[in-house]
Amino acid sequence: MTITQQDVWGALEIDINNPELLATELPPQYACYYEESEDRPEMMPLFDSIVGQYGEGLLEKVLTYQMNGGKLVGTYCAHIPNELIYAAGAVPLGLCSANSTFAEMGEQYMPPNTCPLVRASISARLAKACPYAANADLLIGETSCDAKTKAWAIMDDDAETDMHVIYLPKRKERSDFEHFKNELYIMIQKLEEVTGFEVTEESLRESIEILNDRRRAINRMWSFRKGDVIPISGKDCLLVQECTNYIAPKQYAELVNQLCDELDERVERGINLVEEDTPRILISGSPTGMQGWNINNMIEQSGGMVVAEETCSSLRLHERLISEDADSIDDMLEHTTDKYFNGIHCACFTPNVGRMDDLLRLSEEYQIDGVMDINLKFCQIFDTENYFVSKALDEEGIPNIHLEVDYGDDSSGQMLTRIQAFLEMIA
Ligand code: SF4
Ligand code: SF4
Repeated sequence: MTITQQDVWGALEIDINNPELLATELPPQYACYYEESEDRPEMMPLFDSIVGQYGEGLLEKVLTYQMNGGKLVGTYCAHIPNELIYAAGAVPLGLCSANSTFAEMGEQYMPPNTCPLVRASISARLAKACPYAANADLLIGETSCDAKTKAWAIMDDDAETDMHVIYLPKRKERSDFEHFKNELYIMIQKLEEVTGFEVTEESLRESIEILNDRRRAINRMWSFRKGDVIPISGKDCLLVQECTNYIAPKQYAELVNQLCDELDERVERGINLVEEDTPRILISGSPTGMQGWNINNMIEQSGGMVVAEETCSSLRLHERLISEDADSIDDMLEHTTDKYFNGIHCACFTPNVGRMDDLLRLSEEYQIDGVMDINLKFCQIFDTENYFVSKALDEEGIPNIHLEVDYGDDSSGQMLTRIQAFLEMIA
C-alpha cells in the first residue's frame, strides 16, 4: 500500500468519542502525582487518556501505519526539526526513554557514570526495551554532548539500526549557522532515501504551518500562566505538553485550543489556583524525564506553583515559531535553522548568553519569584553552566537554587526538604 502525505498527518489521530479511549486512565507512574489534585479543567481527563494510550493504543496505531508502508523516525533532541520528517512523508516520535530500568539496562553498552537519558536511549533500541525505539525505521541523533555522540556511534555499529547523526557546532557564529543549515540538507537526503518521498516546497511549507499552529496553541495555554489569575496547574500543563508526541499535530492544536477556551471561562468565573503570596517558580535545566513530574508535584504540594519551564520539552522547544515568510526551500531551511539552531539555547553551546537572556526575560514575563535549575545526574554541560545561570540571576536579584536528580531517584525526602526551604525563603 502506498502512503500519502495525508496518511502521515492522520497516522496518530485519535477518536475522541471512543469510549475505550475515554476509559483509559493515566498510567500509575503519572497518576501518583495527580491523586491530590483538585479543580482540574474539565478537559484534563481527555489528556489523561491520551497519555494512557501510550502503552497500547498508540503502539497499535504506529504498527498498523508501518505495516501499510509508513515510516517511523525516532528523534533524540530538541534540535531536530520534525517539520523535515513530516515533509518527507514520515511520522516523528521523540524517544526520550525517561525510564530508570532502561537506564540500568544501558550499562551493558555504556559506563554507569553516563547520563541516564543516554543509557536509557541506547538500551531502548539495542536491548529492544522500548517498542517504539525498537521498531523505528530511522533514528536521528545529534552531537550535543560527548555521551550522546558516543552512544550514536555504538548504535550505528548495530547492523539493524539505521542511525543518522546531525553534527552540531558548539558556537553560534554565522559559519556555525551555515553548517547546521547544511546538515538539514543532508538530513533531507537521508529522509528521502528512507521514505521514497521527495521533500517539496509545498510539503515543507505545509509542515511548517501545521507545527507552527501547534506551537501557537501551546503558547496560548502558557499565556494563562503569566497573569495574576492562573486557571491551570503546572502539572496539568506538563501533561498537555507531554501529549505532543502522542497525537497528530493538527488534532493536538484543536484540543489545546478547546482547553484554552475552557481556561478563558475559568478565568471569567474567577477560578484561580494561586494566591497573592504563592511562590511562582521557573524551572530550567537538562531533561529530567519523570523526575520533572516529581519536582513539579513537590513544588505544588508544598504551596508553590510552577508557571514556566525553560526546558527541552517546554519553552525551549515550543516557544519560538518558524517564520512563514519564505519563497523557496532554501528560505524555509534558513528559517528552520533560525528556530532550531539559533533559537534553542542548550548548554551544549559556549557561550550560551541566549539562555541567560531567556531566563531573565521569562522571569519578568511570568512574574517569577524563584528559579530552580535542575540537573540530570552526570550531565556535565548543564551542571557546569549553572555558574552562569546563578550569576545572571543573582545579578538581577532573582532567588535561585541548583538541584540534581537521577532517574528513579529515591532521595525525594531530601529533595522535598530543599524545595520546601527554598519556597519558604522566597515566600
Ligand atoms: S538539552 Fe540540549 S541536547 Fe538535550 S534535548 Fe535539549 S537541546 Fe538536545
Ligand atoms: S542530559 Fe546532558 S549529558 Fe544527558 S544527553 Fe542531555 S546534554 Fe547529554
